[in-house]
Amino acid sequence: SLTEIIENICANMDIIAKNKDIDFELINNEDILIKGDYDKIRRMIVILIDNAIKYTESGKVTVKLYTEKNKKVLTVEDTGIGISKYDMDRIFDRFYRADKARHREGGTGLGLSIAKWIADIHKFSLTVESVMDEGTKFTLKM
Ligand code: ATP
Repeated sequence: SLTEIIENICANMDIIAKNKDIDFELINNEDILIKGDYDKIRRMIVILIDNAIKYTESGKVTVKLYTEKNKKVLTVEDTGIGISKYDMDRIFDRFYRADKARHREGGTGLGLSIAKWIADIHKFSLTVESVMDEGTKFTLKM
């Protein structure tokens, strides 16, 4: 149950978000079931939500889980620093960190490459849309 995995992750993230003045919202109206490797799928989602909180100073992080045209869809949207067009082509590469992120401590630039790899081996699509200084949205279709 993807719903169960996400509820569990969000219960932990909620506390971190509150420490940062981030309004955290989970929208999920049905129990969504998928097939795959439990630990890897959990890890992939943690990476996306963790990044949304990490790259947002204050504002909103919204996690949405729904079904659309026989596909299960997860979106993780934030109102954070955003990603430039240049960086968007590179963030899924190993060890890549955007300029703004490099000034922060404690990152390796590996998270998203791992998330993308986990999506790929499950034949899920993971895409990103972003506007600099406005926010970022990752969409996972399963
Ligand atoms: P680590 O994975 O060790 O935490 P990281 O967060 O830098 O390090 P990735 O998760 O691979 O590494 O992300 C790569 C880069 O993509 C980040 O350094 C950051 O520049 C950018 N990025 C990822 N998610 C977001 C987001 N939600 N908003 C803005 N930038 C992001």
